[in-house]
Amino acid sequence: MSVQLPGAIRFLERDWLAANHIMFRDGDSATLVDTGYGKFNDVTLAKVNETLSAWRDIPLSRIVNTHIHSDHIGGNAALQRAHPGCSITIPLDEEAALVNWDSPDQMLSYADQEAERFTWDAVLECGETITLGGETWQAIATPGHDMGSLVLYSPKSRVLISADALWENGFGFVVPQAINPNSLAAQRATFKRLAELDVVLVIPGHGPMFTDFSGALKRASDKLEAFAADDMRIVRNVVKGMFIYSLMWRESMILADLPSYVNRIGVHRDYNAQFFKMSDEAFADWLVTEALRAGKARVDGGRLIAL
Ligand SMILES: [Zn+2]
Repeated sequence: MSVQLPGAIRFLERDWLAANHIMFRDGDSATLVDTGYGKFNDVTLAKVNETLSAWRDIPLSRIVNTHIHSDHIGGNAALQRAHPGCSITIPLDEEAALVNWDSPDQMLSYADQEAERFTWDAVLECGETITLGGETWQAIATPGHDMGSLVLYSPKSRVLISADALWENGFGFVVPQAINPNSLAAQRATFKRLAELDVVLVIPGHGPMFTDFSGALKRASDKLEAFAADDMRIVRNVVKGMFIYSLMWRESMILADLPSYVNRIGVHRDYNAQFFKMSDEAFADWLVTEALRAGKARVDGGRLIAL
């Protein structure tokens, strides 16, 4: 990596289940952007504390969330307990969804994911700036994957904190146009808006940092247009992604329970009823086959085991 982050910024890379963290030092206080998935809070707390220690034990005084998916907010409440006085800032456009906690749009219990509810102290609005690590960052609205999400851009260092709006090879899921006719078009507009930025380094919500911003935008846009041409492709992508995500954080599932599972979990029940129109047994079988084919699972002793 030829582009270095300024010294007051630390990138803490996680994985697909827990979103990456970015930490900033401003004088005697630290800010954390995004807090991972709740099941892995022990790892999150350890990583955050390690950075605070390296910064001579300054306190964690603020959390900023890019959006409200479980893998980005899951550590909010636990971190606030561990760091009393730590405030939480959320995007203004997420406020209604947080008041109306766990609606299907949040893809929380609706998609068999968990997150501890939290209270917030401040909101960040598109167009506002925020000082992090001694630099001014612009909050840019990036609706699509999440209709209320924000990314952060520093014109001085030309770094983009892209959350799930843009990854090196793709972007966070969008819902089918038959479910929400706005999300795909919003994601397309988000790519157009991002393309106007002068970016030398991207810190994505998942995966390593990368420098090929225009290449990533091209790959993401191509993927989006392939989705736009075939809504069923989005449908399959969403249910497969949600199923594998749940399998991975649960580590294993009992195969015989899966027909009742797909009937109980909203995204599987509703998408099957609307798009696949299969029996619960056939739909569960299909999900298992897809998880095996993707190399994300194996079968052992009546269980589906995450790989
Ligand atoms: Zn997300």
